[in-house]
Amino acid sequence: MVKTISYLGLGTMGSGMASNLLKASYQLTVWNRSAEKCEPFARKGARVADTPADAVRDVDLVMYSLSDDQAVEDVVFGAKGILSGIKEGQFAIDMSTVLPATSLREQEAYAKHGVDFLDAPVFGSKQEAADAKLWIMVAGNKAIFEKVKPVLEHLGQTIHYFRENGNAAAMKLVGNLIVALEMEALAEGLVLAQKAGLDLNTVMEVLKVADFRSPLLVSNGQNILKRDFSPSFALKLMLKDAGLIERFAESLQSPIPALGVVEKNLASAVALGFGTQNASALVKALEKEAGVEVKGQHHGPNTSS
Ligand code: NAP
Repeated sequence: MVKTISYLGLGTMGSGMASNLLKASYQLTVWNRSAEKCEPFARKGARVADTPADAVRDVDLVMYSLSDDQAVEDVVFGAKGILSGIKEGQFAIDMSTVLPATSLREQEAYAKHGVDFLDAPVFGSKQEAADAKLWIMVAGNKAIFEKVKPVLEHLGQTIHYFRENGNAAAMKLVGNLIVALEMEALAEGLVLAQKAGLDLNTVMEVLKVADFRSPLLVSNGQNILKRDFSPSFALKLMLKDAGLIERFAESLQSPIPALGVVEKNLASAVALGFGTQNASALVKALEKEAGVEVKGQHHGPNTSS
């Protein structure tokens, strides 16, 4: 039974997950590149490690959520990285969004140390991470999956098992392809509606009920109308994921013609300086081209009819 856990990477997603591990009474060690993000966890009783190698000392399970493949390279394979501290019999779980090939590389490297590895990326964002409502996908050794499942149940509302390592990472990219196209559809639709002079609040009322509705369209649409671009999923991370999807699809010779358009708009929005805003700031690239700003009308409390 898992009792002691190290969590590395206390960003938007990792901080929510690590908090829920503390709430579930696991004995927690934390490490983050920018050490100040460890402070709230130290105050709640977590041990703070100086390096990834130190962080993984004497724990049952090592988990991490890092920005991208390069961050995994640094934290897992780098000097004082996880691999230089981890020992036979421990388990490791990568919850970052990375290439399936990176997950396979991790699995091979861990196996050389007698360590079992699972790739377990997630759907859901800041709120779902904080509320333990993530949708988690897991791939790797089934027996190890069964052992760590009770831990994952403290983080997510669903857990789907995808067999061989790399498959959960692949599922994450499949899902994010759909997310990217939905975000682009929302942004294009709202800009068109604004140009057409439609009441954007009423547009959103339709998006909430029509047969193409989705929670992602509703939450992002409402925030765009409020001009709230505070990051749950940063635009620059979505651009990173578009690059991963492109490489992955290319390796399988699978056509993804629409993604090229989204990637171009994401890159434009990042170039305009919106990379650290929420991914919905993708709309700003289209707004600039269209010469409009998508805005809800602010009705007073008695004028909603
Ligand atoms: P984030 O808030 O930007 O946090 C990224 C984390 O990675 C931070 O702890 C950061 O450390 C660390 N990091 C980055 N580069 C590093 C390096 N070279 N060496 C060591 N640490 C490094 O990102 P996030 O939103 O939590 O996302 C984490 C992962 O989950 C990403 O792969 C993302 O694509 C995926 N994901 C995100 C969401 C979402 O909605 N946010 C949803 C599903 C999946 P510092 O604090 O020092 O910068």
